[in-house]
Amino acid sequence: MSYYLGLDFGTSGARACVLDADARIIHQGQLAFPAEQSPQVWREALHSLLSGLPAELARQLRGITIDATSATVLMCDAALEPISPALMYHDGRATAEALELKGIAPPNHTVCGATSGLAKFLWLTRHAEVSRAAHFLHQADWLAALLTGQGGISDYHNALKSGYDVEALCWPEWVLTLPNSQLLPKIVAPGTAIATISTELAQRYGIAADCQVHAGTTDSIAAFIASGVTQPGEAVTSLGTTLVLKLLSEQRVEAAEFGVYSHRYGNLWLAGGASNAGGGVLRQFFDDAQLTAFSARIDPTKESPLDYYPLPRPGERFPINDPLLTPRLSPRPHDDAEFLHGLLQGLSRIEAAGYTKLAELGATPLRAVVTAGGGAKNAVWMQMRERLLGVSVMAANQAEAAFGAALLGMRELAAPH
Ligand code: ADP
Repeated sequence: MSYYLGLDFGTSGARACVLDADARIIHQGQLAFPAEQSPQVWREALHSLLSGLPAELARQLRGITIDATSATVLMCDAALEPISPALMYHDGRATAEALELKGIAPPNHTVCGATSGLAKFLWLTRHAEVSRAAHFLHQADWLAALLTGQGGISDYHNALKSGYDVEALCWPEWVLTLPNSQLLPKIVAPGTAIATISTELAQRYGIAADCQVHAGTTDSIAAFIASGVTQPGEAVTSLGTTLVLKLLSEQRVEAAEFGVYSHRYGNLWLAGGASNAGGGVLRQFFDDAQLTAFSARIDPTKESPLDYYPLPRPGERFPINDPLLTPRLSPRPHDDAEFLHGLLQGLSRIEAAGYTKLAELGATPLRAVVTAGGGAKNAVWMQMRERLLGVSVMAANQAEAAFGAALLGMRELAAPH
């Protein structure tokens, strides 16, 4: 048998998922991170998940692929020891660096935010002991490097926010002219086999000596891969605290004012947009049991007369760019099921407007939607959304990033290198 391991390093913990060659789940593992994360915490989690592999699976492991949070970065020396603290995905301290990048990057470039990988790179070159640095790496790259013993390689999903040109597949000139740019990694397609696992780790965990370590991806793209969507026009809507749309497209779409951008996805593009509206608003009024009970009383074939725009607070980016947009949540009917009907319909209309917006920006029109996140279990809402979106809507069979990472290593993204 051949087995493939996916490891997911998310915002609150790490998970492992082993698939067989038919993409059946054979083993899963997980552990929670302490409140304070660090490279040491991730390294221990990596070892703990490897040591939890059943011996039989470890012996027949063909590939390992790691996804991790996007724009979480660090500097390390040639022996892969961190020489800086990790700057987490939401760390906003690189404000001065972001401003500097505004002066040299193309207008509205993703690197111009303080949380971007490249702003953090500049910050680290000024605050870490850069003379000892051998590599600037993203969280997923560093963990993969620990497996092979070799640093200096990343993938074009993690590297997007670090300024890599995913169209031309190279670091742009304006990045290469930055001091210390030799510390930036070499970029390959996500899923590319990089090297075999180190002999030391293979022996310690009883892993096949020829097990390949693959270039990784980000946690949200790994979750997208898990959904099994592969064709242009197919999308994944994530109904979590916020409403996130990801659409496979033949065209790359970018619209900074709407927070819309595209990742390269093999020979396609993965276009995304996120609304501030979402399940978080439902949570302000109802708990999960109430959501289930009141949903059962909604007729999804009927239009609600309520015209809500359910935001948790003023301000929206996508599909409407209006920082002052006020939530519309009144009038509130006495019957909670009627109220919920209005809320779910309002969210569905935002979802539909989001896909329309992506198409207007040039993306492949929507053909089918797979649903992930807490709202995916609501069948009544699904029927309502199907009517309003005008395409088939399904719940995702798999939405676990670790599953997606394992799949990525198994299939690799068909991409030009
Ligand atoms: P997060 O974005 O925090 O990871 P989850 O994917 O766990 O969120 O989803 C949580 C959201 O799912 C909550 O905000 C809640 O409103 C929503 N939710 C949970 N159960 C239901 C349900 N039956 N119908 C609609 N929404 C639901």
